[in-house]
Amino acid sequence: NAAFDVLIIGGGPIGIACGLAAKRAGLSYIIIEKGCLVNSLYNYPLYMTFFSTSERLEVGGIPFVSINPKPSRPEALEYYRRVTTSEALNINLFEEVREIAPHGQEYFITTTKTAYHARHVIIATGFYDIPNLLDVPGESLPKVTHYYKDPHYYATRKVVVVGAHNSAVDAALETYRKGAQVTMVIREGEIGKRVKYWVKPDIENRIREGSIKAYFHSTIKSIEEQTVTINTPDGEVTFANDFVIAMTGYQPDFALLKNAGIQLSDDAKKLPVYNPLTMETNMPHIYLAGVVCGGMDTHIWFIENSREHADKIIQSIKI
Ligand code: FAD
Repeated sequence: NAAFDVLIIGGGPIGIACGLAAKRAGLSYIIIEKGCLVNSLYNYPLYMTFFSTSERLEVGGIPFVSINPKPSRPEALEYYRRVTTSEALNINLFEEVREIAPHGQEYFITTTKTAYHARHVIIATGFYDIPNLLDVPGESLPKVTHYYKDPHYYATRKVVVVGAHNSAVDAALETYRKGAQVTMVIREGEIGKRVKYWVKPDIENRIREGSIKAYFHSTIKSIEEQTVTINTPDGEVTFANDFVIAMTGYQPDFALLKNAGIQLSDDAKKLPVYNPLTMETNMPHIYLAGVVCGGMDTHIWFIENSREHADKIIQSIKI
């Protein structure tokens, strides 16, 4: 098989941006995506609204038209799908990359379906596949989820939402408004500072008036079939519970990066090593694009500020 100039791992917004840039530069390329097209966005909560306005989610300069100031998940799915089909991007779906190994001047990439040769590899695998676990007894019970989808499921039920950032706040407000009895368990002393500015007063007021109960400076100790036990500043508390929605964040697939020979910082951030001008890692001709660049700091990069990685990488490949 002839080697591709560029093999892109991940068919998220940034993988698509890289594919567009490679195509326009006249390079041969392929995008390999393990799930459906923009798999992470597909798996986001059904009714989520982006914090970005639509033009900031655009890739390749292709207009993202929305009549709302902030587009919704279905609109984003529509946009990235139309970009992919109208540009006839070369993308393989439901195929997972398992290994990236040097092979002479090229790389040999093994997937769940076949193998490829490529001169350059772009890793744009995001961070949404591996949740940060609570690491407590009972976490594997079926009533616990790290992926919140739809509020109706929780109607009339006793729900614990763990966390205080955007995902947790959205889940708490949505489930409360569909009739769940919601208790938030929050490690910090307040609602996260990065919570969408138009949502923050809503959650703070619901907590203040007692519609949503919140335990601050508190953590989950254990989860039982019909209860949850938490550590609070006033000691241990056990209360009745039907479901736990753990919105404790996600982390990149560090195993895939290490397997490719990419170095990570020794601290808790596990920052991958790359040159910010070209996005090339310590492994020659392996590049990082999108939120995978941030290591454990998954909030630093988003679509808005990481779509430019695509052009940086392709420029540096062309030289
Ligand atoms: P992803 O979209 O995560 O794409 C990575 C892709 O790689 C996935 O499709 C995954 O299936 C695939 N993949 C992973 N491993 C492999 C493998 N081994 N082989 C093949 N494929 C693989 N950002 C904004 O700019 N504005 C917002 O308003 C915004 N809102 C957000 C709301 C939520 C609820 C969340 C969770 C995130 C939000 N973000 C937002 C962040 C944004 O979604 C991410 O920045 C964006 O998805 C990053 O794109 P990406 O292409 O880097 O990663």
